[in-house]
Amino acid sequence: MRIHLQNFKKTFGDTTVIEDMNLTVEDGEMIALLGPSGCGKSTTLFAISGIHKINGGTLHFGDKDVTNLPAQERSVGVVFQNYALYPHMSVAQNIGFPLKVQKLKTAEINARVGEIAELVQIGNLLDRKPMQLSGGQQQRVALARALIRKPDVLLLDEPLANLDAKLRLEMRSEIRRLQRETGITAILVTHDQIEAMSMCDRIALMKDGRIEQISTPTQMYESPASHYVASFLGNPP
Ligand code: ADP
Ligand code: MG
Repeated sequence: MRIHLQNFKKTFGDTTVIEDMNLTVEDGEMIALLGPSGCGKSTTLFAISGIHKINGGTLHFGDKDVTNLPAQERSVGVVFQNYALYPHMSVAQNIGFPLKVQKLKTAEINARVGEIAELVQIGNLLDRKPMQLSGGQQQRVALARALIRKPDVLLLDEPLANLDAKLRLEMRSEIRRLQRETGITAILVTHDQIEAMSMCDRIALMKDGRIEQISTPTQMYESPASHYVASFLGNPP
């Protein structure tokens, strides 16, 4: 499902964090919101998910204007850096929770949980508690939970930041595989250009609440649009 932000604006009190942002993510595309800490990546993602209300502009999913829809009525799955799993629930209960909230029948929930757990390859871990899982496995649970309602849009906020280097590599290709297999339209927030480059079709490089350049990774490296872009890409974290 195509995502379209027009003249997006977000303020906190007197501070403008997102200023007049325009962005289109094509159906089935995975795009990175890349930029230094504090430039407004998470704020943008939270506004798209409906967790934050925007102060100006519009948001469309396909032809549908979702600007004023509350988060639970938007067809969105979100994965955060810290996974935010429910510690007292089993893996199966964690994944199925969004369906339980919707009051689906238990048999239906179980079938769907089994299916999605296979997709993210944790079918053998359904009875465990989150604490009994590795970081990578926890991240797979968070992905499964984000996908269980079959959303049109997947939003990922620094999903690999808490993983060690080896797992980070593994989960990079795993998230990309899932995105391709499901055909879901996805936005990945990251401050890591290597992550953005290796996982996404296009990169939107942000500066102070605006998009400085948007292009394929190759185009961005070959022809940076400004000194800022060149300097950001030239100084990997
Ligand atoms: P990023 O994800 O790119 O690191 P954020 O979107 O989290 O950046 O933050 C962008 C700016 O907005 C920062 O200056 C941050 O301090 C500010 N900000 C974020 N959330 C809030 C909030 N709830 N209240 C006030 N300021 C906020
Ligand atoms: Mg952030």
